[in-house]
Amino acid sequence: MADKGTLAEYRRRRDFSRTGEPRGDAAGAPADRPGFVVQIHDATTTHFDFRLEVDGVLKSWAVPKGPSGDPHDKRLAMPTEDHPLEYRDFEGVIAKGEYGAGAVIIWDEGTYRNLTEDRRHRPVPLAEALAGGHASFWLDGSKLRGGYSLTRLRGDRYGDREAWLLVKRGDSRASHARTPDPRRARSARSGHTLGQVAAEGGPTWTRADGASQDGPSGESPSGDGPGGGGAS
Ligand code: MN
Repeated sequence: MADKGTLAEYRRRRDFSRTGEPRGDAAGAPADRPGFVVQIHDATTTHFDFRLEVDGVLKSWAVPKGPSGDPHDKRLAMPTEDHPLEYRDFEGVIAKGEYGAGAVIIWDEGTYRNLTEDRRHRPVPLAEALAGGHASFWLDGSKLRGGYSLTRLRGDRYGDREAWLLVKRGDSRASHARTPDPRRARSARSGHTLGQVAAEGGPTWTRADGASQDGPSGESPSGDGPGGGGAS
C-alpha cells in the first residue's frame, strides 16, 4: 500500500493547523489507472507543479515554465517532496506565512499509462524507472495528451537539488502548442484563474473527515470574465 514514510518531508514543512492543504491520512484504494495532476502555484515565483501518482503518493516536480506540447522544448523540472494523493484535489489558497503561500489551481488532471521499457523492451515499473533517472508515460488529461518523458540530468545540479527535464515525446500528439500564460490559465476543475481563486480566499478542497473547507460559496464569483479575476 502507500509508502506513507515518504510524506515525512511534506509534513515537516507544513503546519496543518494553519494551512488547508491535506495531511495525507486518507488510505484511498488504488485507482484502476494512476492519476496525474498539474497545478499552477502562485508562490514566491509562479510555477507549475507536475505530479504523478506512484505507489500511493504523488511524485512531484516544480516546472517553472510548465509542460510544452513541442518535443523541442526541454522543460526544467526540479523535484520536490512527495505529496499525498489527496493533493490532486487541492485548489485554493495556502495561507500567508505558510510554506508555499499563495493561490493554487488544478490546471490539468487525468490518468496516465507507464510507457517505460528497458533495452529489451520489457516494461519497467514507474518507481523503478524514476529511481533510474528516466521514465516515459502517456498522459490522458483534459489539456495534456500524449507521451512525455522525465529524465534526470547527470551531474547537473542546482545547488543541492537534482535537475530533471520534462519533454514531450515525438508522437501523434506532439504540437507547437505553447504553454499558456499561467495568470490567464483556467482550472480544469473550476474554470477559475489564479486571481479568482486568490480573491475567493480559503481552500476549496474537502477534508477526508468530511469537514468542508470551502471558502465563500458561489457558482460565479464576480469578475468571472475572460482573463479576468483580480490580480494577486
Ligand atoms: Mn509549488
